[in-house]
Amino acid sequence: MFYNRIEQFLSKQKTLEEKFFWCVVLFSGIAAGIATLFTIYEDIGWAPVVMSAICALMFVLVGVAAKLTGRVSVWYFVSCILLNVIMLPLLFFMTGGVASGTIFYCFMGIFVCSLYNHKKRRFLLIVISLCSYEIMFLLARLYPNLVTQVKPEMTNLDYALSFLFMAVVLYAVVAFLVNVFDKERRQKDALLKRLDFYSKRDPMTGLFNRKHFMNYLDKMIWPERDGFYMLMYDIDDFKQINDKYGHAFGDLILSVVAKNASAERIVGFGECAVRYGGEEFGQLFYAKTFEEALQRAEQLRNKISALSFEEHPEVRITVSGGFVDCTNESFYHPNKMLSVLDKLLNLAKSRGKNQICFRE
Ligand code: GH3
Ligand code: MG
Ligand code: MG
Repeated sequence: MFYNRIEQFLSKQKTLEEKFFWCVVLFSGIAAGIATLFTIYEDIGWAPVVMSAICALMFVLVGVAAKLTGRVSVWYFVSCILLNVIMLPLLFFMTGGVASGTIFYCFMGIFVCSLYNHKKRRFLLIVISLCSYEIMFLLARLYPNLVTQVKPEMTNLDYALSFLFMAVVLYAVVAFLVNVFDKERRQKDALLKRLDFYSKRDPMTGLFNRKHFMNYLDKMIWPERDGFYMLMYDIDDFKQINDKYGHAFGDLILSVVAKNASAERIVGFGECAVRYGGEEFGQLFYAKTFEEALQRAEQLRNKISALSFEEHPEVRITVSGGFVDCTNESFYHPNKMLSVLDKLLNLAKSRGKNQICFRE
């Protein structure tokens, strides 16, 4: 439950930097608090207890300061410096130097630096921290009396506890971050999928939009277009329907036409339906012969003219279209085919609408 709460809190943070910061502050704060209790238990004097408590307090204060100022980056940097240059080196001398498990804490201090989100400042942090610890080791060697002596029998216990404790903290921080990353990656993937879908579709009808259709035609169909046929059709007198029954009803008609066009596709052969613009649609057929494809185009036209609508049962719509074989040798480019389709569509309109004109 506690784990879930922290996870929820971390996923609410907007930036990666904020997530890292709060992850480090929470876990390090808790770790320093528990370490204070250990130190009391180990009974090695009041100074290390106070120092551990100051460490825990520092994480609390840094958290509060970041919350109040909103400057997570600055407070992260400050806490790394305080931790690695002042607190942990002091604790090291107070708890018996290399004879204590404090060196595992120092290692944790370096790990905390590595999660800082600015490349240059992170490098600066690591250099400062490493120098600080090397100086600490050197001083402990040159001036052994700076190091508080602890009972030798405590060393083993301290190592065991500190090691276990830091390993658990390290595991928890990394596991949290991996979870957060994984969740974000999955959310991003889903978002990208949705964006990709909508960038290719017309939002009202869900059919391919013109831009994607042109791309699809050019890249997927044109190089191997044997067996493909194209119908381009336009709803007749649609303006009158809009004027008489309203735009919302016009939209409904467009959606119903699109649904029928979509159902006409044989999936898996590269067939597709496109809303070319306004009340103009396109349908790509794959068939063995011109006659078969034309028959399917006529079937679609008839299906649309048979549609009825609950709101206005008296309304009937018809469409006029142009139809071609994509392999026609004059179609050196898809645009050439589309301009021929446009002419055929206009011919169908001029011949009285509700029909398909074609070129073999
Ligand atoms: P024609 O038989 O010559 O095609 O006549 P038409 O009235 O269908 O053609 P026109 O180009 O004069 O008008 C097309 C109409 O289609 C006008 C426009 O308001 C309507 N239209 C275009 N897009 C939409 C849409 O998304 N929703 C609705 N409701 N109407 C649309
Ligand atoms: Mg029209
Ligand atoms: Mg039109």
